[in-house]
Amino acid sequence: MERLGLIAVGTVAHYIPCTNKRTFGCAEEKYFLSLKHKTPVLVFRFEFLPYFFYFRLIVSCLTRTNKEWRVLQDNGLCLYKNVACFAYKLHAVALAVNPSSIQLQVFQPTNISVTKKVALEVRKIITHLLNDLLENYHKKIDMYTVGFQCSKQEVFHEHDDCFVKEEQLLKEGTMLCPKHELNNSHILHESTLLFYWNQDVLAESTDPDALVENRACRNLPEPEMRRYRVQCFEKLTKSGREALQMYFDKVFPPAELFMLLQKNKENLRKQFNTDQCDLLFPVDKSIPTSSAFDVTIMYKLLRNYGPNLPTPTKGWGKTPDPGQKSPTDDVERIRVYRNEVEHKTPATSVMEKEDCRLKWRDLCQAILRLSEGSLEQDIMELIY
Ligand SMILES: [Zn+2]
Repeated sequence: MERLGLIAVGTVAHYIPCTNKRTFGCAEEKYFLSLKHKTPVLVFRFEFLPYFFYFRLIVSCLTRTNKEWRVLQDNGLCLYKNVACFAYKLHAVALAVNPSSIQLQVFQPTNISVTKKVALEVRKIITHLLNDLLENYHKKIDMYTVGFQCSKQEVFHEHDDCFVKEEQLLKEGTMLCPKHELNNSHILHESTLLFYWNQDVLAESTDPDALVENRACRNLPEPEMRRYRVQCFEKLTKSGREALQMYFDKVFPPAELFMLLQKNKENLRKQFNTDQCDLLFPVDKSIPTSSAFDVTIMYKLLRNYGPNLPTPTKGWGKTPDPGQKSPTDDVERIRVYRNEVEHKTPATSVMEKEDCRLKWRDLCQAILRLSEGSLEQDIMELIY
């Protein structure tokens, strides 16, 4: 049995999941449902899911995780026939099996919110164990799809009519639930369902739709709304400059910047115009500082003198595709959007709602990555 992965051998006792007949009862369910702070249910949906596969997953959870991961206790171990509860970094994790899915949810039993970092780690751990098992499985149950329950958020029950693929939600951002288009029609927000489960998804609070929703501007007539979007986007590109400066200072710490500029003085005088050179080599002989540099100067210095910087995915000077997110991809993004705002080209306008939403999201993510999250508050204050 141990070889088959159906038993967890402990020093004091062994655990054989398939012999566990204990049901997850009303009291347990009520307790979990009463917890206020929890993630949406992450669903791994299988074409075909043999029951023993779940047992193996539980055994893996018991034997192949580190010390921070343990079985939750409440008058005994919280291991039931179809649900297993774990404790991980001050959070509770419920892993449940249903006829065609394995479901995962993270709870915070105290009064504070779930930590996104912990939820991401839990997802990573379970995905890793799951994929490892699939690899060893002789028939290879290769297909599972990751997604969410659109409405009901109970990890213990499978809501077959509620499954929405993660991929689709990521692509569409905000969408009318495809499962409930008529009677119970409701809107799915990527920021609500995916925030805890996806590194790149921003909190609802930085989503432009949600931001506008709560402000006086939401009642503006469309022509004014367009002007308003452009204004907000202009401000966002200013935060973009700030994020770029943070990255620039990491690549060129002030002392090294001075040396670099002195060393390449002759070349730089050819590459930059007079105004720019005055910033690089102040006439009063003061030390040049990045806070005086605009996007163009920082971009050119990074591109031509950045030591060991990765080349952007599509190359320097190109607009990165969504999903390409190395630091230099983000540097390109900040340059591209700054140019759009500066040149106000009609073809690249951000006036239309949809266009603005996509660009806003793309630029916000770049800013948060380059500033390592420190500009989140600034972004939220941009729309008022
Ligand atoms: Zn729905």
